Amino acid sequence: MNVLIINCGSSSLKYQLINMTNEQVLAKGLGERIGIEGSVLTHQPEGKDKVVIQKPMKDHKVALEILLGMLVDEEHGVIDSMDEISAVGHRVVHAGEKFASSVLITDEVMNALKECIDLAPLHNPPNIMGVEACQEILPNVPMVGVFDTAFHQSMPEEAYIYPIPYEYYDKYKVRKYGFHGTSHKFVSQRAAEILDKPIETLKIITCHLGNGASIAAIKDGKSIETSMGFTPLEGLAMGTRSGDIDPAIVTFLMEKEGMTSQEVNDILNKKSGVLGISGVSSDFRDIEGAAEEGNKRAQLALDVFNYRVRTTIGAYAAAMGGVDVIVFTAGLGENSASNRQEICKGLEFFGAEIDEEKNNIRGKEAIVSQENSKVKIMVIPTNEELMIARDTKRIVGLE
Ligand code: ADP
Repeated sequence: MNVLIINCGSSSLKYQLINMTNEQVLAKGLGERIGIEGSVLTHQPEGKDKVVIQKPMKDHKVALEILLGMLVDEEHGVIDSMDEISAVGHRVVHAGEKFASSVLITDEVMNALKECIDLAPLHNPPNIMGVEACQEILPNVPMVGVFDTAFHQSMPEEAYIYPIPYEYYDKYKVRKYGFHGTSHKFVSQRAAEILDKPIETLKIITCHLGNGASIAAIKDGKSIETSMGFTPLEGLAMGTRSGDIDPAIVTFLMEKEGMTSQEVNDILNKKSGVLGISGVSSDFRDIEGAAEEGNKRAQLALDVFNYRVRTTIGAYAAAMGGVDVIVFTAGLGENSASNRQEICKGLEFFGAEIDEEKNNIRGKEAIVSQENSKVKIMVIPTNEELMIARDTKRIVGLE
């Protein structure tokens, strides 16, 4: 009973084949430069050598054919035939207000996703292409869509309505959606499991801190607030994204610098965040290195990043009327002890006390708060693929 997980970007295709009897990954890989010159697919079968295939891949269907060929390949494969793929789980970024949970993909679902293209013009088209390519090659295999936005559909109106004329919500569905939902859901459930408490009794703040970063307030197992918004640009400072700024800066820059809306959009998405402040890099490892060598702007970038995470945690504790658990996850949250330490500085007033020694870990599950800290602080590596595989298994009724 194997589930194939597919995550298509505009020129990339990430995959994992997971045996759902024991949740072991059988193979994973990444197709890159799809549709452009220099296409390459890297395939990593479990317990065997990595294979790199350089072949033209004019579209996602060709990439998919190559990866399926690798899965059943005599030398590099991990299954005997395609019949051993029981279902496919697709990561889809935006489901608008249409889906509040993962669903079996039908023609109706595909139409609904196409209607959401306006909301995620960069992400939904390749996601949809991935589903269509899979349907062509594996016509009899059930497919499930798992959406980044779905987990946050439980937010109350007061959290998702922006204070702008209501007609734009009516006309264009301009509202907060939130992203990284699969990750926030996974780590919050895992936190409850580790603490051996029903998730319905917990107030959890999950901090997904990677290149893209977002925080969610999860009360009784449901997301009630999150920092990304209409697009993944809102909220925290990120690798290259500005997060929250005064919206008047947009028109100010357009006027002063003679920029078009697209140019400002580019600056806020690709040249801002910790890259914009530090001028060093969007990668936190580089910035931490530069800060250690005395680069003041690198240190400032880290300070701005940490300050925003800390103040958002404070706001979300207020939104839930308290907090029992703070979880750190994703590249930075899982790996950077110094960031976690800095973020938690000042949170002692509401009973979140980090333990410097316990916090000195990376990439593994741990409780890093002091023994008697009222709020538990945890590090939990995220696993969006496994979450997608579990939803897929449940929805297609595999046992
Ligand atoms: P995304 O999936 O959004 O691209 P990731 O979750 O992979 O991002 O996180 C990438 C970020 O995590 C990078 O900025 C990287 O510098 C940071 N990171 C990874 N390992 C470490 C580490 N040991 N110390 C500090 N930052 C780290």
